[in-house]
Amino acid sequence: MKIKQINKDQLQQADHVVVLAKTKKDIDRLPCEKPVEFLKDKFEKEPFQYIKTPKHLMFVVNTNKVKGEELRKKAFEILEMAKNEKDLAVTGADKEALKNFIEGFYLGNYQFLKYFKDKKKKKNKIKELQVEGLSQKEIEELKNVLDSTLWARDLVNEPVSYLDSVQLAKEIKKKGEKAGLKVKVLNKKEIEKLGMGGLLAVNQGSVTPPTFTIIEWKPKNAKNKKPVVLVGKGVVYDTGGLSLKPTPHSMDSMKSDMGGAAMMAATMEALAKNKVPLYVVALIPSTDNRPGKNAYAPGDIVKMYDGTTVEVLNTDAEGRMILADAIAYADKFKPEVIIDAATLTGAAVRAIGDKAAIIMGNADKSYFKEIEKAGKKTHERVVEFPFWDEWKEEMKSDIADLKNIGGGNAGMITAGKFLEHFAKQPYIHIDIAGPAFLESKQDYKGKGGTGFGVRLMHEYLKNKATK
Ligand SMILES: [Zn+2]
Repeated sequence: MKIKQINKDQLQQADHVVVLAKTKKDIDRLPCEKPVEFLKDKFEKEPFQYIKTPKHLMFVVNTNKVKGEELRKKAFEILEMAKNEKDLAVTGADKEALKNFIEGFYLGNYQFLKYFKDKKKKKNKIKELQVEGLSQKEIEELKNVLDSTLWARDLVNEPVSYLDSVQLAKEIKKKGEKAGLKVKVLNKKEIEKLGMGGLLAVNQGSVTPPTFTIIEWKPKNAKNKKPVVLVGKGVVYDTGGLSLKPTPHSMDSMKSDMGGAAMMAATMEALAKNKVPLYVVALIPSTDNRPGKNAYAPGDIVKMYDGTTVEVLNTDAEGRMILADAIAYADKFKPEVIIDAATLTGAAVRAIGDKAAIIMGNADKSYFKEIEKAGKKTHERVVEFPFWDEWKEEMKSDIADLKNIGGGNAGMITAGKFLEHFAKQPYIHIDIAGPAFLESKQDYKGKGGTGFGVRLMHEYLKNKATK
């Protein structure tokens, strides 16, 4: 769908119009003469009104009552009514409200139809959203972030039969370079040379080689010398390995186990497209986790990239094995802070479901405050969990430096403490296992991959760059 800027005269030509109204007077923006009076009469009481005639759809949303996330959801409701029209225009005096509307409308129009025979028939007819009230630049900046979010959804929705570790790296390189990013993909030989034992161990059961993708955004006008390093878990499919998962409600959605990789790669794309003046690097270790071939086994001891030895007690705790190598590798860039995102633990899902991501770490509190703020604004919320050192004890092994699984409780935190061991710089861990993938349809977020975290990270990093 296109998003096109229009002016007030063009708005008068539109057949289908949404007014985001703060006052009665705003309703005069509707391009029709008579009916506006009764809409005005009801304005104070009704948060949402509409008129439907054979030729026109006219909507009034009272943005004193419907704002932020509610407005995104309302936009999705309106899309459901208008999705088979050619276009729809939206107007309003409040820029924030216009942006919320566009987000809900544009993201809600996402469909993953690639694998249908009759995809043309299934596709929503709407071609264009016309916007009166935002500048061309404002529209473009927003659309870039939304397109990156939809790219992240595509990546998550693609099955491993298409999107294996090699293909994931290829797609990131292609998209990234087009956006102006520097992208380097390390192949298995190079990964072996570096001694990334964690990534290689998880890959042992796979017929596809691992990849390690390094994405760099270093604009000349960057505000920072030391980069922010992002790390995304790229397990393109997780069977659990020899510690095999059950199928229903578990292995059947495990193509989504690269949600962290999608989130960070798509964030980088959005940063580059919007030319955000901040030096940022993203690292994407990728493999599938299978029980085939010479699969790594419970009891194995693995030597990691930084020399730490890890006793593997559960091969389904593979995300931390590949992330640990990437987090240790981040040291090469001498980052200001390392932030990883991963669909890491079932414990995170059990704790807060799909409503938010869990965040924790040892970085200064100010980082958490800023990320939380961005989370509120985008409604990609994060909830901070404790990160006390007591949990570190649980990760100690009798015969190696660490083991890869803790006790039965607080699994999302012991995973974080495991990863912290490998970070030489201030560290933040985001567990997105809940919100990255939805089993049932949820308003504009859809079903399947949500692209969670792209808007969050873009907002956070953009704010960081303008401070
Ligand atoms: Zn796993």
